[in-house]
Amino acid sequence: MELPVSFDTDVLISGAGAAGLTLAIDLARRGVSFQLIEQNAQPFNGSRGKGIQPRTMEIFENLGFVDRMAAAGGPYPPLCQYRPDGTHTTSLLTEADVFPTAAEPYAAPLMLPQFATEAVMRERLAELGHHPHFGIRLTGFEQDANGVTARIEGKGREQVIRARFLVGTDGGRSFVRHALAIDFPGEALGVRAIVADVRLEGLDRSAWHRFQLDTPATQVMICPLAGTDLFQLQAPVAMEGEIDLSPAGLTALIGARTGRGDIIVRSVSWSSVYVMSARLADRYRVGRVFIAGDAAHVHPPTGAQGLNTSVQDAYNFGWKLASVLAGAPEALLDSYEAERRPVASNMLRLSTRLLGEAKQGIMRRDREARQLDLGYRGSSLNVPGSVGGKVQAGDRAPDAPCRGQGGQRTRLFTVFKGPYWTLLGYQPRDRPSAIAGIRIVTVGAGQELVDDNGHIAEAYGIDPGQWVLVRPDGYIAGIFSSDGLEPRLSQYLVQMLPLRPVDMFEGS
Ligand SMILES: Cc1cc2nc3c(=O)[nH]c(=O)nc-3n(C[C@H](O)[C@H](O)[C@H](O)COP(=O)(O)OP(=O)(O)OC[C@H]3O[C@@H](n4cnc5c(N)ncnc54)[C@H](O)[C@@H]3O)c2cc1C
Repeated sequence: MELPVSFDTDVLISGAGAAGLTLAIDLARRGVSFQLIEQNAQPFNGSRGKGIQPRTMEIFENLGFVDRMAAAGGPYPPLCQYRPDGTHTTSLLTEADVFPTAAEPYAAPLMLPQFATEAVMRERLAELGHHPHFGIRLTGFEQDANGVTARIEGKGREQVIRARFLVGTDGGRSFVRHALAIDFPGEALGVRAIVADVRLEGLDRSAWHRFQLDTPATQVMICPLAGTDLFQLQAPVAMEGEIDLSPAGLTALIGARTGRGDIIVRSVSWSSVYVMSARLADRYRVGRVFIAGDAAHVHPPTGAQGLNTSVQDAYNFGWKLASVLAGAPEALLDSYEAERRPVASNMLRLSTRLLGEAKQGIMRRDREARQLDLGYRGSSLNVPGSVGGKVQAGDRAPDAPCRGQGGQRTRLFTVFKGPYWTLLGYQPRDRPSAIAGIRIVTVGAGQELVDDNGHIAEAYGIDPGQWVLVRPDGYIAGIFSSDGLEPRLSQYLVQMLPLRPVDMFEGS
């Protein structure tokens, strides 16, 4: 065996699914050194998580690839539900009145098969000068006070990597979670199902076809996958026994359950049989090792929550990790589990409830599934004594169309774009001096932004003279008045940024 070649990186990310790729993109744009390894030799080629929720779209906008995602995918089609007698009803998956608003630019989920989502993410990562190392598997690690020594293997050799932090974004069967002996309590849901990407004849692509004959156990769902010529086939199957996933086998299953002999599967590009469970890791961190995404939570696919929650885990963690690597207090990293674990716990409840409804033939995705109301109101990262307007510390910072003082149209999300904090002043009396890592933007007469249609005032409900501090992941850290702004900010930001108070305000 070849002798290990050591090299150092700040972060080793194990697993290049949606969570690992999100973290990699965020670290790349922050100039953090990392290595992203993936045990599979090739990118994942299945449709699995096909629903991108509006909150994730906002994150993808900030990371610079939302329009590429939208161009590759498309909206969810209406749901066509067939009865045993062959008649059917058609309905929308979301409420009929879901439209983009000034505060929420993405209203409905986007459909994009997971392999296409990950391809767009890899393209973005490549633009930032990085790529996943395919065919490389994490096989072991030890940690000490300063870092993690990880063993990886692949391409016929073993290597040792010394990293300051290790992040396991390695999916539901997470090697990292097991190695850390983190408990993964929860329940088996007693449902086994197939998911397969197929080319077929006999169904049109204008609807998500759902055949519900007699019992939940005989359902078949066949959804045209936007941006492809494939359909995603989903069906519960018996808990035990071999399943024939060949074109002929799937054609026979569809025929037996729908009574239709005209639906013919011509080819199968990917398929899987899986057992549903709902589990949540007891901890997301042990020392210098973290888990994120499915490594930390697994649940049924109902409601299209998993990939989205995984992306948002990574997005919550990325800025904190970068900040600590640059010198911010390590305690900042504890807020990752504190903020994200309750979100996953609620998501598990939601997807399990939706699974129960699906068994009754109800397929509805309401506002909760769109993840726009997720937030961290109780977080220790919220500025103490922050005042509440229409929004409060811990809430998602809304978007708002406005104008630049130059007359051009812009939006708050354009202002927030990039790996920064934003300090937004609404008709302020004074402007604080520059702070490294914080973009200061003011709104009002003679200021940088003009709230010409009142969307900022409407969304935030703040008073003239107030300031809103927005975190790099788009959540409000605090709202406060101009009085004592600089010392207050300084006291707060010293916990978040790699700055000493004396450096914080230029000239102060
Ligand atoms: C049928 C179905 C439908 C779904 N629909 C949706 C949906 O509509 N919307 C949604 O949000 N979610 C959906 N999901 C869930 C979604 O697919 C997952 O939540 C998502 O893939 C999690 O991303 P992740 O990056 O955490 O993990 P994964 O995508 O599982 O990625 C983990 C990666 O780590 C790699 N890895 C593992 N061990 C190692 C190791 N030791 N070394 C190196 N690499 C390793 C794996 O090969 C893998 O590529 C669905 C799931 C299923 C099964």
